[in-house]
Amino acid sequence: MVKNKKSEQKSCKYIFVTGGVLSGVGKGITAASIGAILKAKGYKVSIQKCDPYLNVDAGLLNPVEHGECFVTHDGKETDLDLGHYERFLDFETSRFSSVLSGALYQELIDKERSGGFHGKTVQMVPHFTNLVQEKIEKASEGSDIHIVEIGGTVGDYEGLSFIEAIRLFANRVGRENCLYVHVVYVPWINTSKELKTKPAQNALKDLRGFGIIPDVVVCRTERPAPRAICEKIAAFSGIASDAVLNLPDIESVYDVPFNVLKSGVLEILNRFVGDSKEPDMSKWKEFSRLRGKNWAKTVKVGLVAKYVGNEDAYICVTEALKAAAAWNKVNLELVWLNAEEVTDKDFAKVDGLVVPGGFGARGAEGKIKAAFYALEHNLPYLGLCLGMQMACVAAARRGGIKSAGSEEFGAGEGENVVYIMEGQCGKESTGGTMRLGDYPAKLVKGSKVAGVYGSEDVIERHRHRYEVNQKFLDEIEKGGLVISGTSPDGMLVEFVESPKNKFFVATQAHPEFRSRPLNVHPLFMEFIKSLK
Ligand code: GLN
Repeated sequence: MVKNKKSEQKSCKYIFVTGGVLSGVGKGITAASIGAILKAKGYKVSIQKCDPYLNVDAGLLNPVEHGECFVTHDGKETDLDLGHYERFLDFETSRFSSVLSGALYQELIDKERSGGFHGKTVQMVPHFTNLVQEKIEKASEGSDIHIVEIGGTVGDYEGLSFIEAIRLFANRVGRENCLYVHVVYVPWINTSKELKTKPAQNALKDLRGFGIIPDVVVCRTERPAPRAICEKIAAFSGIASDAVLNLPDIESVYDVPFNVLKSGVLEILNRFVGDSKEPDMSKWKEFSRLRGKNWAKTVKVGLVAKYVGNEDAYICVTEALKAAAAWNKVNLELVWLNAEEVTDKDFAKVDGLVVPGGFGARGAEGKIKAAFYALEHNLPYLGLCLGMQMACVAAARRGGIKSAGSEEFGAGEGENVVYIMEGQCGKESTGGTMRLGDYPAKLVKGSKVAGVYGSEDVIERHRHRYEVNQKFLDEIEKGGLVISGTSPDGMLVEFVESPKNKFFVATQAHPEFRSRPLNVHPLFMEFIKSLK
């Protein structure tokens, strides 16, 4: 058994993606696109992000600054890059797919405190760098190709040990089994009307200084760069000129795989993996064609949100809606509705409402109003996590409990239709106290959701602390909602719906985490369909 595992491990090849000049130029999308191409060639591809910042996980990071917190099936709170990976590769990342310095330090210090180092001095090299390599090997188990993106920019103080770890990794598995890709930004200087290669040259010098000569250099530019630019970078950096590629900005991230293919990277990848099979991009092409069309019908979806206009804060939701619109052959007009100010007049202007997840009292009344309006006016509604809790509060108010609210919003006079269950762990607002990751649900036979899923047993990802209090079920039902799914023991409300509405479904889970552009989640497909 062990032997098998070893040989399986050996056959894995590794692609390391680093960045130079500045961060935020699409390193993650480049990594995911390379993965998508290799997957389309028939390989089993996994992908991982190593982030050098000192947080332990992404659970407490501010969504305004950092974007949405993504949750893996096994309950790790990570940054939104893992969402991109899942969308591009249509696979499930895991807790091993996200590595943060804070967690690694914590692991090393815990081991040191319990005597695990037997009196040895604990050092960045080899202890930290070995741990990074172990995490990479762990995450790559069972894959043909494993991609590792290193967050930040090469040369950042806190990232040095990760660069050293990936350099050392070539000793562990053989240099021929590693492909180093460095993504650099080449700025356009408007005054002199030229692209400047110097920052990229310096970034490559930095990387060389750490002992890594990349196999591929990706030059990110605002517009397509003349070939001479790549050649200049190659000449000044001692890299073969056909290994320096240009990836200009493009309208949609989902077209980046095509751009990557056009850039000439396929030849390098083919050489690396040792086959020249054409990737089957037919589904990507179909998706691109549908997205690019101007359809006769436009659907207006009101997103009742706290962070208005900040797509990153709700990226899985907006991506799921966009993809669902494309496959439903309609144009999507996303209307941001500020949860703190929204009125019935705003609801009247859209074809349907989505109330996404959220935390805290701010904007909650607007979300309750949205659900109330949808119930009264037969307006399609999709509630996600907090969106389900607020739907239950709205229904309870319609059902007679005028003071219905949630315990999350502070101790008021009202009835907590949403509450922390007796014996449930963690009232505190710090990390690691929530119900996280996959949980199963039993759907009611004949319900709308059972029909949408085509099954009565479903598993969805969760990230929440509060639950619907079943003491108020009568009022919730009187207010127009039925419970259409619960945890298998019946204790927790997982899905509610309005039998009278055309489409009113809400779930305690986050189905958006499992929606992929090429494989859209059925709840999003059906929601958009109901607006047509
Ligand atoms: N704030 C709510 C809870 O903790 C909902 C969480 C969410 O929408 N992700 O239960």
